[in-house]
Amino acid sequence: MDVLRRILCAMGRHSGEWSHPGSRCEMVRVCAVCGKTEERGRHDWGAFAPAGGCDRVRHCLRCGATDSWPEHDWGPWLYANTEFNAPQVRTCRRCQISERTTPTYR
Ligand SMILES: [Zn+2]
Ligand SMILES: [Zn+2]
Ligand SMILES: [Zn+2]
Repeated sequence: MDVLRRILCAMGRHSGEWSHPGSRCEMVRVCAVCGKTEERGRHDWGAFAPAGGCDRVRHCLRCGATDSWPEHDWGPWLYANTEFNAPQVRTCRRCQISERTTPTYR
């Protein structure tokens, strides 16, 4: 029987009860068979709201945890310089953050 349960563990099907150690949205369980700790987060996220610049933030309606996700207004890709293998750079029109590709070797 124990062998069967260990096979289930190897398949990721652990046994044991989920408990809520901290906030109400995060659950943890320790497998009764192999002792592996599993974590699961189940936040009840609200809608993203602008949080200055390009950052958008959402809050969990239950525990108040925050999650941020930037949404940049990228301009077109431009070459960083006039060299043969120059990387391309694009700049956000709103917060001026820039992002570049690795140099391309053509
Ligand atoms: Zn297990
Ligand atoms: Zn939460
Ligand atoms: Zn931006």
